[in-house]
Amino acid sequence: MAALIHKILNANEPAPNLMDYRAMRATFSWDIACAEQARLPYDRLNIAFEAVDRWVATGQGEVAALRWLGKNGERQDFSYTELARLSNRFANSLEQLGIGPGDRVCILAGRIPELYITALGTLKAGAVFCPLFSAFGPEPVRVRLVKSQARVLVTTTLLYQRKIREQRNNLPDLEHILLTDSDGSEPGTHSFHTLLETGPDHRSPPRTRPEDWALLHFTSGTTGIPKGAIHVHQAVAAHQLTGRWVLDLRPGDIYWCTADPGWVTGVSYGIIAPFVNGATLVVDEAEFDARRWYAILDRERVNVWYTAPTAIRMLMKAGAEAVQGHDLSALRFMASVGEPLNPEAVTWSLATLGRPFHDTWWQTETGAIMIANYRVLDIRPGSMGQPLPGIEAAIVRRRPGGGVDRLEPGEEGELALRAGWPSMFRSYLDDEERYQQCFADGWYLSGDLAICDIDGYFWFVGRNDDVIKTSGHLIGPFEVENVLMEHPAVAEAGMIGKPDEFAGQIVKAFVALKPSYVPSDALRKELLGFARTRLGPAVAPRELEFIPDLPKTRSGKIMRRLLRARELGLPLGDVSTLEGENPEEPDV
Ligand code: ATP
Ligand code: MG
Repeated sequence: MAALIHKILNANEPAPNLMDYRAMRATFSWDIACAEQARLPYDRLNIAFEAVDRWVATGQGEVAALRWLGKNGERQDFSYTELARLSNRFANSLEQLGIGPGDRVCILAGRIPELYITALGTLKAGAVFCPLFSAFGPEPVRVRLVKSQARVLVTTTLLYQRKIREQRNNLPDLEHILLTDSDGSEPGTHSFHTLLETGPDHRSPPRTRPEDWALLHFTSGTTGIPKGAIHVHQAVAAHQLTGRWVLDLRPGDIYWCTADPGWVTGVSYGIIAPFVNGATLVVDEAEFDARRWYAILDRERVNVWYTAPTAIRMLMKAGAEAVQGHDLSALRFMASVGEPLNPEAVTWSLATLGRPFHDTWWQTETGAIMIANYRVLDIRPGSMGQPLPGIEAAIVRRRPGGGVDRLEPGEEGELALRAGWPSMFRSYLDDEERYQQCFADGWYLSGDLAICDIDGYFWFVGRNDDVIKTSGHLIGPFEVENVLMEHPAVAEAGMIGKPDEFAGQIVKAFVALKPSYVPSDALRKELLGFARTRLGPAVAPRELEFIPDLPKTRSGKIMRRLLRARELGLPLGDVSTLEGENPEEPDV
């Protein structure tokens, strides 16, 4: 196990928002957090109102809410007041189009300012906001538009022409298409900006109630066909609290979330949490580039940064040279989500960036961070951390006849959460049966395997489907991948179980090398030996194959099921979210 990393609390920085984790866990109740939110009369609650209008109401409207960095060097600030007005206009425009409570409004666009206006305006109108990742090809877009029964789609002319126009007749629910850059030449579409200009910028407070549907997010599709998870306005209590306690956000902070709003992280933490906490959200329209990223951290004086293991591994690959000459001293807190965070990445970040990444665990279904490493606590690298105050987490085993048994510390089982937190999903769209299968004895069952140690820290083992059974052992891919990642030649590693006559399954590793290394038989043997000395023969991979890149979802998760299917010659299943699946459709 990598050595403990001590918390960094500098005297010249503000004290952590969450000062005493244990005391807060002992006393916290969601009722208190939810009561804090009720700012509207008649028990009404609205995420967008909490996010922007409340700052206007308390006189902080002139603070920059959104700092947009365009891919061609543009830079534009939107204050809380401006976002409140623009989202009012958009909500009014939706109403003029006859769109109201419960209707689905989808957006298919890159990280452009109109996306943020659409999200907030849709929520104010009481409609359900559903983001679609802009690099999806026409078929995944169609499937999601059909499933969500979207009545409105906001998109760009280019994306419309490439992905929607030809199949519009097959989308009977889709009544209105709003083009953010319309020049009036596309029949059957509206100009987003013309609509915005005609809508008044005042509105009476939203009428949504806490349990009204607010967000529809499709999962990443890492394990199969993506599911549509529904979240309600009450979720904002969890966004605010996790923003405050886990990300340590406070008014005046400059905050950067690198996740695309096409996925849940890019909405919960790339729109809602920073706004409800009064921070300035930095949005970078461009794709990953190590030097650009370091330049943004430096120039924008980013205080809090939330990113993902894939991006961190790419930064590691780019080497320490890329960070040289950049001043990252404004950074107070860095966190990661989406995949297991290799201990190697935590120690690397401390050595190279001066701060450690803090792992956080959650899912589309949980709506907000559930398990985390907090600023006020030391980090055990490789651990996801401890449950948020207000969240009861446990390791359980499903009983064959129904129900679950709680397991002891150190035992491996399914990670479960006591149902009932505000951002818990309320449904899988049109799949009530599947939704019900996620619950047993009052627990939500996550489908992830983990261990809880004697001190209450949770350790990710793998997804239910990715775990390998070999010679009577259960092996989680994460521990094997972590060890290979420690070797200087390895950029990324993915592990699968391969059927074997004697052992049941053997572990096979797929490895992508860092740029200065070339595949060779000698290196393969060296890596197998390296893993064997650290893991022992029972757990270490028996086979190892070099591949240029591991297959990943567009949200950056390694798709081990595809490695498995390719290896075993099985059908690939749903690949709608596979990165690079539509090479003729460049990310636009
Ligand atoms: P699908 O459910 O469609 O297969 P998905 O589970 O990848 O896709 P998301 O909801 O985006 O879709 O991802 C949540 C999953 O990501 C978690 O269940 C877990 O497997 C993984 N994950 C997220 N954060 C972490 C983390 N900190 N450590 C380990 N795994 C993580
Ligand atoms: Mg999932």
